[in-house]
Amino acid sequence: MRLSAQSFFNMSKLKVYNSLSRTKEIFTPITAGHVGLYVCGPTVYSDVHLGNCRTFISFDIIYRYLKYLGYKVRYVRNITDAGHLEGDRDEGDDKFSKKARLEQLEPMEIVQKYTVGFHKVMELFNALPPTIEPAATGHITEQIRMAQQIIDNGYAYVVNGTVYFDVEKYNSEKPYGILTNRKLEDLLEGTRELGGQSEKKGRLDFALWIKAGPEHLMQWPSPWGMGFPGWHIECSAMSEKYLGKQFDIHGGGMDLAATHHTNEIAQSQACYHVSPVRYWMHTNMLTVNGVRMSKSAGNGFLPEELFSGSHPLLEKAYSPMNVRFFMLQTHYRSTLDFSNEALQAAEKGLKRLWDAYKLLMSFSWTETGNTRTAGADQELDEKIIKLLGEFDENMNDDFNTAKVLASMFELVPVINSIKDKTISVNAMAKDTLTLMKATFKSYLEDVFGLKAVDDTDNTKLQGVMQLVIDIRKEAKGKKDFLTSDKIRNQLAQLGITVKDEKGGGMSWSVE
Ligand SMILES: [Zn+2]
Repeated sequence: MRLSAQSFFNMSKLKVYNSLSRTKEIFTPITAGHVGLYVCGPTVYSDVHLGNCRTFISFDIIYRYLKYLGYKVRYVRNITDAGHLEGDRDEGDDKFSKKARLEQLEPMEIVQKYTVGFHKVMELFNALPPTIEPAATGHITEQIRMAQQIIDNGYAYVVNGTVYFDVEKYNSEKPYGILTNRKLEDLLEGTRELGGQSEKKGRLDFALWIKAGPEHLMQWPSPWGMGFPGWHIECSAMSEKYLGKQFDIHGGGMDLAATHHTNEIAQSQACYHVSPVRYWMHTNMLTVNGVRMSKSAGNGFLPEELFSGSHPLLEKAYSPMNVRFFMLQTHYRSTLDFSNEALQAAEKGLKRLWDAYKLLMSFSWTETGNTRTAGADQELDEKIIKLLGEFDENMNDDFNTAKVLASMFELVPVINSIKDKTISVNAMAKDTLTLMKATFKSYLEDVFGLKAVDDTDNTKLQGVMQLVIDIRKEAKGKKDFLTSDKIRNQLAQLGITVKDEKGGGMSWSVE
């Protein structure tokens, strides 16, 4: 990407909310013009859930915007394919082995299956792939080396083949709860008492390396015997390998801050004596009709269920672009509430915006020999330029996509008035039209990553509709009005109107 003076100007204006300082800070990268970005990726032992998708889509937009500003971004998002136990604090079974036994598969078959599925969902959401996607199982050596260094530095100990991080020792020198602004005493209070059989010295100590029993399907040799890495060490080892001991941005869902990210900071400090991350960024959670989304609440639908409308809570199918747009309407640090009503409103909003965008791109300025015509409207022209300028201003304010969309929607009536010929396209200056087209294109396609909601498979829809209409005709022929009315009414709910024509024919139209 060629850097313009404008993008250098914009780069220096970007403000990022840093979870570590709990304030918005001017973003200054370690190396000018470059950004190192690390995002905790999925644990691939089951389908990716929607809350994770929100995190990945939010960081996709952040990644895209940094590129739009002219940064060269190295975006690392890992695949957790080993070592993530049932509980975040080492208790319980290894997620991969457990699932493998249930499904009678090799652990690596599980990993492959869900990695492929995850990539497919990300592609449907039009999320760009990261520049590096390292897997934990491919970096066992790096994790062992880091654990050994932490032991050598005196912040970890070995008990019976398992390596534990000594939180209290670390906390005597550096504040362990710095990321979520909590004192060790408070954290201890929130943790269960250790059972008599526990081999850990302190309740908050966590495993860097875990001894594997013979029944364990995935295990590797280490200086401490056969075992597998703890979950937290993976991100510390891989981020250091690809981005350095200190890098610019680390992101993830806010549920990772209190344990996983807190431990990442402690590990890197204990190993390299440097705080690993300059800007910590966290996305907020999803709720469904006001209730936190979770499997146990029965409202944790999967992306596929959303796309097919197959979950009982969903009234219809919602396209990936519909969902992406819906997410863009809320700032990434606010909770996002899913409801049929909100998704359907987003669907209409996206259509309205995309229709206006298509119109805008079809407009051409009428040459008259002058740069402006008699129809020129200074006030309108200034309003357009101001609103277009707000796109960057709002993105520079901690990536406020919601506000950008608000400014965009203010321009939709202008576009529609040009279409209706209530105002002339020449009411704006030629350069303004060029700027408007370029800005809309950059934002909608490059930064927001939206695509035309395909009226695609219209041929398939035609076929399906013909089938439905045939069935309805047959039902009417048999005087089965219950069925024929049911078909008509249910289609109406989907926004498809069926009309009975004279002579027994039927036609249909989509709202
Ligand atoms: Zn991580």
